[in-house]
Amino acid sequence: MRIIFLGTNGWYSTELGNTVSILIGTEEYYIILDAGDAIHKIDQYIKEEKPIIILLSHLHLDHIIGLHTFAKFPFKQDINIYGYKGTKKGIKKIIKHPYSSPFSDIPINVQIHDLDEGKYNIGFPITCKLLFHADPCLGYKIEIEDKIIAYCTDTGVCQNLYQLSNNADLLITECSYKSGQEEWAWPHLKPEEAAEVAVKSNVKKLILTHFDASSYRTIQDRERAEETAKKIFANTTAASDGLELILK
Ligand SMILES: [Zn+2]
Ligand SMILES: [Zn+2]
Repeated sequence: MRIIFLGTNGWYSTELGNTVSILIGTEEYYIILDAGDAIHKIDQYIKEEKPIIILLSHLHLDHIIGLHTFAKFPFKQDINIYGYKGTKKGIKKIIKHPYSSPFSDIPINVQIHDLDEGKYNIGFPITCKLLFHADPCLGYKIEIEDKIIAYCTDTGVCQNLYQLSNNADLLITECSYKSGQEEWAWPHLKPEEAAEVAVKSNVKKLILTHFDASSYRTIQDRERAEETAKKIFANTTAASDGLELILK
């Protein structure tokens, strides 16, 4: 499967990147992880009529702000959006007049589904667990094409982070803080913490994303985070917008 990091910033977009969104193209599905403003790029990649599934971690704006761009998409297939309970109500509060056109006014069929913690089959198995964040935030374990992908963003270190990433082929997690940075706000990870989770959870590959735009101002800042993480877990990549990866 092909994984494209469309947006890799946390909090807000800068010249370095857009806010978080990741597209996974499998044989049968397009799976999108979060809908930061980078989600506007999906029409560069979605060329087939496979179902589109969007998994939202939480409702902070850097993870959903791109939902207002859907009116431009030419897709014929349905889009199903999943998120923690309250997601349907939360999105409907924002994706409506006077902020945006509601989904009911655009030509694509968009459905929103609330999830709780637990296991679901949405065409393929997913496991959802709450992470450690300022507002309810779901981490996902996705099992597809004999691979396990864990997507855990916007979290401090917590048990559910370990459980979701246990034995994953790929852990995509966040790196909001810099190494040694004084934590000044919500729980988030530093590069060495993400790498330690990768080691303890026995994952095969770690990708760092959701770099806090106010702390990570240059690509060199991200390269330093990668170097720090690699000393603990060698198979680490710091993502930047446009990074592509084939998982096979
Ligand atoms: Zn965020
Ligand atoms: Zn958040």
